[in-house]
Amino acid sequence: MKPLKKVLLFLLVCLLIFAAILTYNYFNFESKQISVEKAEKVAIDPGAIHRFSKALQIKTVSPENLADFDSLEFKKFNDFMKSSYPLMDSLLIKKQFNDFSHLFLWKGTDTSLKPIILMAHLDVVPVIEKNLPEWKSPPFAGVIKNDTIWGRGAIDDKVGVIAISEAVEWLLKNNYRPKRDIYLAFGHDEEIGGPRGATAIASYLKDQGVEAEFIMDEGGVIANGLVPGVSKDVALIGTAEKGFLSLNFSVKIEGGHSSMPGKETAIDVLASAISKIKKNPLPTKFTVPLEGFIDYLGPEMPFANKLIFANKGILKPIILSAFEKSPSSSAMIRTTTAPTIFNSGVKDNIIPQRANATVNFRILPETTIQDVLDHVTKVINDDRVKIEKSSTMNEASNLSSTDSYGFQLINRTIKELYPEVFTSPNLVVGATDSRHFKLLSPNIYRFSPIHLNEDTKKSFHGLNERLAVSDFNNGIQFYINLLKNSN
Ligand SMILES: [Zn+2]
Repeated sequence: MKPLKKVLLFLLVCLLIFAAILTYNYFNFESKQISVEKAEKVAIDPGAIHRFSKALQIKTVSPENLADFDSLEFKKFNDFMKSSYPLMDSLLIKKQFNDFSHLFLWKGTDTSLKPIILMAHLDVVPVIEKNLPEWKSPPFAGVIKNDTIWGRGAIDDKVGVIAISEAVEWLLKNNYRPKRDIYLAFGHDEEIGGPRGATAIASYLKDQGVEAEFIMDEGGVIANGLVPGVSKDVALIGTAEKGFLSLNFSVKIEGGHSSMPGKETAIDVLASAISKIKKNPLPTKFTVPLEGFIDYLGPEMPFANKLIFANKGILKPIILSAFEKSPSSSAMIRTTTAPTIFNSGVKDNIIPQRANATVNFRILPETTIQDVLDHVTKVINDDRVKIEKSSTMNEASNLSSTDSYGFQLINRTIKELYPEVFTSPNLVVGATDSRHFKLLSPNIYRFSPIHLNEDTKKSFHGLNERLAVSDFNNGIQFYINLLKNSN
């Protein structure tokens, strides 16, 4: 054989082997979607939605400025809980933290089993005054119209507090006793980082020696049309969440008159530093939650996507570059870099001596705050730029397993109630109160049984926050079933 022929033959054999591997992996990429029997539903009290409406009318706003904290409204919420859920109030062991955060303990019958902690937060973000005319229903009126309930907190996260409370009240009324201890932890300051709510509750539970089987908080939803390539809705169960870090950068250089500028001014140096950081982001990476996402949803995708995901080990670069295309999927594969503040100068003919900027990073699991700091310092490589960490920061969460009792229980309960959805582990890109509970259990899951689509997603911390009444009722049903299934 001629040498050229030999080479071609060799290439052909390689290609065939490669195609064979891809095909083999494709056919062995089996569905992880479980099939379970559809759950029987109970009759949800028609009064529940009106209690939810009342809860939305109470302005439990976590303000930017602590001086604007309206304790009267939070006091009203305490009273509302007490009068709306009398069995929960009288039969569960309760404790308040810094007046407005609540912990309930429902004693189980089997002390050998580890407890479950259900979390939610009762505070909401403020409504921007000048945007008020754009709300189709006022944000604090709890209006119910056309099967939708409107108001700040409808999805974030009074729905959690109220649906859990309704479920527990229903179960108490029906003489249900859990086997495991059930804790309900409702923080009142999640939107400002949870320093007086979730943090206080977590340290109390730690002191009590509580070790939870699993913890469940907000963070994942049933995504409607939000996962490309998947035809059905996807219930995303957050098995980890990203960390948070803001770095403040400052440069101080002799200023002067703008008619005789120096070679480099404070603005020049800082602008170049920020530009370097943006051009050299932290590297893209596969994380465990992303691999889980691929394993759970890949088999349900059309041929081309399925083929690629089935071969994630070999085709990693293709997957990473596809994820890089949109901001939301890009956030899944890297520690993001977002310059958020840039300040310098006061007058057009004065060269300022100082320039300051802030850059916000959302950190992937298994990357640390120190890693980000080291990366940024190395990339800037300029001693004139002073780098300081801002006061609020947190490391990315630990990774919670999809093999645990907690994940399986949540997964099964979702499938029983929403047989038409796919379920998947996921990485939560925001921060939740559950991060303060990390010492209480290795198994922390983030999921709210509500649907979000491209449109309603924007109402999260935005305008016209609202929820379908059916979502609220199904949410109550979800927590009832979750607790029942935990027996
Ligand atoms: Zn929230």
